[in-house]
Amino acid sequence: MKTINSRIGVQPIGYVDPTFLNSIISKVSDIYATVDINISFMYVAPQPLPVPALAFNENYTKYHISPFFSLGSYLMSLSEKKIKDKSMKLDKLFLITSVPLYMDMYTPILYGAADGGSPISLVSTAELAHGTKEQSIERVSKEASRFIGSTFGLSQCWDPECLMFACETLLDVDTKSLSFCDTCKSNIRT
Ligand SMILES: [Zn+2]
Repeated sequence: MKTINSRIGVQPIGYVDPTFLNSIISKVSDIYATVDINISFMYVAPQPLPVPALAFNENYTKYHISPFFSLGSYLMSLSEKKIKDKSMKLDKLFLITSVPLYMDMYTPILYGAADGGSPISLVSTAELAHGTKEQSIERVSKEASRFIGSTFGLSQCWDPECLMFACETLLDVDTKSLSFCDTCKSNIRT
């Protein structure tokens, strides 16, 4: 298998502990290395960006994902303008936030999302960063890898041990392994 190089921008939206975030991106890099994808994560802005105020829904006391993706698209376009040297261009963008997210009333808990067909993924630590530090890192890394996987052309997988399994509970997250099933591995594309 030929190694794929992918430059992924990282942007915290709202405060995310920097040491914790470094552990996440390091673990996600390790996971992708096992499928011959060499990810180099690059911080986009030096500071976390504010959580989009208009994302907040008072009824759910959660934040809608759309404004996060709008912000992500803006950051992607900005990076393209700013970076004249095309070798520094971002291939994808990974957004991370600590606020709870929602998409619609039918999904009570949302660990994150990937904007269909776009290179942007989003994960929230609100429902995942529970338990010991190691558990939190593993849980967030697994779901981050799933949503980043969507930007590599993967879709939901029915194998409960595969990273692309659509988890709805922490038990689901803990049940899945730190690897992709053979079918998902063969479906990865840039
Ligand atoms: Zn799979």
